[in-house]
Amino acid sequence: MDHITDVPIGVMAPQRFESVLDEAAYERFSSLFEHARKLFEGRVIWNVNSTASGGGVAEMLRSLLTYARGAGVDARWVVIDGNQDFFRVTKRIHNNLHGATGDGGFLGEPERAMYEGALAGNAEELIPLIRPEDIVILHDPQTAGLTEGLKATGATIIWRCHVGLDTPNDLARRAWSFLRPYIRTADAYVFSRKAFAWEDLDDSKIYIIAPSIDAFSPKNQEMETTTVASILDATHLVEDGSHEHPVFIREDGSPGRVDRATQMFDGGPPAPSSVPIVTQVSRWDRLKDPIGVIEGFVRRVAPHSDAHLIVAGPAVAAVSDDPEGADVLREAFEAWQGLPDDMKSRVHLACLPMDDGQENAAIVNALQRRADVIVQKSLAEGFGLTVAEGMWKARPLVASRIGGIQDQIVDGVTGLLVDDPEDLDEYGDAVLKLLQDKAAAQRMGEEAQRRVREEFLGPRSLIQYAGLIEKLIT
Ligand code: UDP
Repeated sequence: MDHITDVPIGVMAPQRFESVLDEAAYERFSSLFEHARKLFEGRVIWNVNSTASGGGVAEMLRSLLTYARGAGVDARWVVIDGNQDFFRVTKRIHNNLHGATGDGGFLGEPERAMYEGALAGNAEELIPLIRPEDIVILHDPQTAGLTEGLKATGATIIWRCHVGLDTPNDLARRAWSFLRPYIRTADAYVFSRKAFAWEDLDDSKIYIIAPSIDAFSPKNQEMETTTVASILDATHLVEDGSHEHPVFIREDGSPGRVDRATQMFDGGPPAPSSVPIVTQVSRWDRLKDPIGVIEGFVRRVAPHSDAHLIVAGPAVAAVSDDPEGADVLREAFEAWQGLPDDMKSRVHLACLPMDDGQENAAIVNALQRRADVIVQKSLAEGFGLTVAEGMWKARPLVASRIGGIQDQIVDGVTGLLVDDPEDLDEYGDAVLKLLQDKAAAQRMGEEAQRRVREEFLGPRSLIQYAGLIEKLIT
């Protein structure tokens, strides 16, 4: 196979959620296991996307499919390939769906021909594997063009769009026009929130499923404070001199250890152990506004506190479907270079090792747990898994009042929302407020964790997907 790659998925018993869900929620979830096994017997639930690591979709698939397999359902994950031109165009579509210009390029007939050409080989390899009784969930713009070819196999096709914006603009409409002909024949469209559903789609095919996180993954599993310190020290992110073991539990239950160093892109030392930490963890993407995160911190937070800022993202070569990462990291580095010397030592640009995805996740986990305030100052956001991850760790958050973040953070209760995502002062002041009012910060963190437990863990997503698929196939 030259184009498509099977992503190995673990197997994990969904019964483990008994320890985190309340009784009624667990009962709803467990009643699904037997039913789903019978209903989906002999059927494969295919998930198709364009990267096995980096970003929210990969993160979610890995977890949800592991539990689906643990429940006896033949859920699979396939990654398509594409050339540089393909990913440049699909990144443009992604940006446009968020209402942003991206690289400013066209979406015309040449782009269409290129997009279809790149998908043709993937379709050719996938089609013989799919049977009429199967279900195929195509994720995001990269795979939309596979709909018609796969539909011809007789399978049930769901197109799952993870991005969107609250008030569409011309750029978003342009991206819809590009994609609409491809998804027309899908049996269902799934969006993360109602406002993201496109105009002119058949309303009866639209379903809303909010994303979710995995409470037990290396990204979110419980971690002792000493382990947090050891992991951050071992990867040279926060210096602690800790001699405990930097260990975590892998997805299959086996032991893991953090061995690889984070690359401090500013070339500076790790943050000292004694200071408050403010952090944003995300891909190197302009819509995550790393420069705004730095400037607002330098302007409003640093002068009134001794906090350090860690802007962390993946090692840039690692995210295959994101060609802009290296440019955005360079821009952030240039912003850092322009800072006065006393600020340079307070702001850290960190590229987390991606050689081992679970090691990377454990580092993110430790960093989020160590943070006094977690920031997600995105300019656009489909959902913001990082928000749910921070909330689950009972951390106080400051995030932009946009997209799916609004469904997670109840302003003033489970974190603070910044009304204008471009307003650096509003963002900086909110961070400072949480650093200074520790009691309020702790209260919000606890409320945040409660909210994730009730709304944003995997079982809720699995129940919704199973319900949707059942409706489509029966
Ligand atoms: N992430 C990660 N390692 C990194 C940077 C990000 O594992 O170095 C994860 C992050 O923890 C989150 C996901 O990537 O789980 C990003 O998802 P989100 O919905 O926040 O944003 P997206 O990348 O999908 O736009």
